[in-house]
Amino acid sequence: MSATDPGLDLRYNVEFTSPDVVIGKKFSWSQMPVKLRHNSCAVAGCTTAGQNAVLRGVQFWQKNATLYGEIQTTYGEPPDVEIVYENSLGGNVIGICKAKLAYNSATRQYYVLTPLTLSIATTVQGLPINERDTEFVAAHEMGHCLGLWDHSPKDGDLMNAYLTSKTTYSARDINSIRWLYSHNSDLPTYPASALASQNAFAEGAITVTSPPLLTP
Ligand SMILES: [Zn+2]
Repeated sequence: MSATDPGLDLRYNVEFTSPDVVIGKKFSWSQMPVKLRHNSCAVAGCTTAGQNAVLRGVQFWQKNATLYGEIQTTYGEPPDVEIVYENSLGGNVIGICKAKLAYNSATRQYYVLTPLTLSIATTVQGLPINERDTEFVAAHEMGHCLGLWDHSPKDGDLMNAYLTSKTTYSARDINSIRWLYSHNSDLPTYPASALASQNAFAEGAITVTSPPLLTP
């Protein structure tokens, strides 16, 4: 165990677990700060307080993981991650981070296409979501979008799959992202908008959806 590896007991797995072509690989942003675009909520169930809670949530990583630099909320083009609101994400899902992968046949390399989409629901099964839960979900999904792709098995970690009785974030969350950003990424990022001029890229991208955060 090196100084940059806190060990699996103090962090969790950050690698992709699907699809097959990228299992065991990881991605992290190499260009800082991560450009994050917040699209104002325009669906049923929007509130100003809810949107502010989302912004507080995504800023969690800016405040607590200075290792990789500052995250800014920007409306400029092109973003790395785009926040969108939906009235419902189906079932008991509150948030989800979606990425697409493309394959470059020339380099035999898979790429994570930007922007990633961070979706937040304004309702779950027709009911509003309180500010605390919304903030937590936004931080959780931003963790996925930053490269913490798998879930922690431990309740009490931000990256646990279920929204239960959490009130704080854990040291394991910080250790995990520090570990990720202290290692070279297996999957580079590439802007989706640039694909049209890159014939070496496969036409059909593979959609990868992070495990969503669920209500119990
Ligand atoms: Zn999740």
